[in-house]
Amino acid sequence: MSHRVLIAAELMHLLEPSQLTGLEVTWLGAGDPTPRGDWVALVPLLSRWVGGTEFKHLPELRIVANVAVGYNNVDVVAAEMRGVMVTNTPDVLTEATADLTWALILATARRLVEGVDLVRSGQWTGWHPEQLLGMELRGHTLGLLGAGRIGQAVGKRAPAFGLRVIYAARTRKPEFEQLVGATRVHFKQLLAESDILSLHVPVTPETKGIINTDALALMKRSAIIINTSRGDLIREGPLAIALEEGVLGGAGLDVYADEPAIHPRLRAAPRTVLLPHIGSATEETRRQMAAIAVANVQSVLNGKPPLTPVYS
Ligand code: NAP
Repeated sequence: MSHRVLIAAELMHLLEPSQLTGLEVTWLGAGDPTPRGDWVALVPLLSRWVGGTEFKHLPELRIVANVAVGYNNVDVVAAEMRGVMVTNTPDVLTEATADLTWALILATARRLVEGVDLVRSGQWTGWHPEQLLGMELRGHTLGLLGAGRIGQAVGKRAPAFGLRVIYAARTRKPEFEQLVGATRVHFKQLLAESDILSLHVPVTPETKGIINTDALALMKRSAIIINTSRGDLIREGPLAIALEEGVLGGAGLDVYADEPAIHPRLRAAPRTVLLPHIGSATEETRRQMAAIAVANVQSVLNGKPPLTPVYS
């Protein structure tokens, strides 16, 4: 018997036919609304909201297999109330996202985009001792907000650059502390001491807008903010103003509050490196993310437990 499933059309070329055995797939285009019907599984991208209306329109739905580790695009409470499983794609994207975080740290600290723009403009007049001076990493402090899988993977790369590591988290991470020499601090201390503040918490009611005017005011004028987690963690207007006024050293961002729209003031602000949400964008990782999402669907539809549930 084959099961009717809805899968994001963008995943078509990342999946092998063998992974889709037993599934009758309807490929769902990015711009198409989630349809009404008797589909039993939905495999959405993080750009698709899946909430009460979608659950109402899909009465036979048994699983939402989100193709991301973050699942703030799914109303998990509504899903649980309906008895619909929700799964994500942890672990496989940790290293790729940590690497991209480091790409942003280096690019922002060393003003890579300004350098590229200068060369491309044809205005570069040659080596100058005070041209595009950036932040030396050695001897400075990397602050991690959130030390889960990705936060720790970012922190583990820091000793090689001579950075001290501090972190704020709900629970202590003794092994991470031992391995990296990291110290757990309170949120306000994290803001005050970080030369580079990198965000790795999920968006929750507690963390939404956590980097706001008050938080920015506690940071060093030279500090840079890196965000490869979720855009809603930052109030983008106040961040743009801080950059315009020169009371913050820079910002390297991969994610935004209203993707793909970017706050116009932030897009125009100085000292930014702005990427189009490519944290997990490596060939290997994207294939593995698609594979895990579909493996979750296969498991649940075959009467087994999901592999990576977001609630139990
Ligand atoms: P994770 O392993 O669940 O780590 C999240 C950490 O956040 C946990 O360690 C948790 O603390 C901590 N946390 C939660 N609320 C907190 C709070 N209020 N204060 C301090 N710490 C808090 O998740 P992950 O796999 O590292 O992923 C992190 C985020 O990265 C995800 O939310 C995802 O959306 C984002 N992401 C983005 C991309 C991209 O393309 N840019 C790619 C992958 C992931 P405890 O350990 O104490 O519970």
